Amino acid sequence: MRLKNVPGSRQAVAESNLVIKDPDRYKGSWAKEIFENDNPLRIEVGMGKGQFITCLAAANPDINYIGIEKYSSVLIRAIEKVEADPLPNLRFIRMDAEDIEDVFAADEADRIYLNFSDPWPKDRHAKRRLTSERFLTRFSHILRDGGVIEFKTDNRELFDYSLIEAPAAGWTILASTFDLHNDDKMNEGNIMTEYEEKFSGLGHPICKYIITCKDRKQDK
Ligand code: SAM
Repeated sequence: MRLKNVPGSRQAVAESNLVIKDPDRYKGSWAKEIFENDNPLRIEVGMGKGQFITCLAAANPDINYIGIEKYSSVLIRAIEKVEADPLPNLRFIRMDAEDIEDVFAADEADRIYLNFSDPWPKDRHAKRRLTSERFLTRFSHILRDGGVIEFKTDNRELFDYSLIEAPAAGWTILASTFDLHNDDKMNEGNIMTEYEEKFSGLGHPICKYIITCKDRKQDK
């Protein structure tokens, strides 16, 4: 993804109370220390400008949400949204998801969302895909037993790869579709991301899977 530099975004992100600094300090105690409750924790990895996770958090006040984003220049847009319309159950972390196991303890989350993740089309970059076995293994360690990943993309090559990679990594596919917006069951309650609006507007069908790590946890 090509990124526009937003002057001042690095500093604004560093100064925002919505962004958790030194997030590894809260490993194992996100609900208690950050949200001061026992509610379930859900994470969006690669949240971009945050449209999806802010809508989810507004609709589900009894669930805690963390949005993870690598770049300040996009994260700043999510911060601006939440500063304008505060949501006590949503916080952000600026980090690379490679380090997710340093930040969340085993079984700490019950759901992870991956929306329009970067496809990394070259074979030699396959390990960087968020739906690769390497990332799925990291995610399985922080998801509770029976936890799920929900993944959406318009990139058919990435989706086909992901449909093969998940079972090979020991995950079970609970549901999948190659055309989410025309699948009444899977589309029920769907919240569109920025990229989803853009690409479905161009006529691209949206693919989605939901996978569980239940079987995978037995290997831990
Ligand atoms: N999820 C948003 C949507 O659907 O509109 C944004 C999609 S954009 C194509 C992918 C986002 O994931 C980018 O903002 C990128 O910086 C972020 N990202 C990619 N790899 C990441 C990683 N390893 N850790 C954290 N963020 C990542």
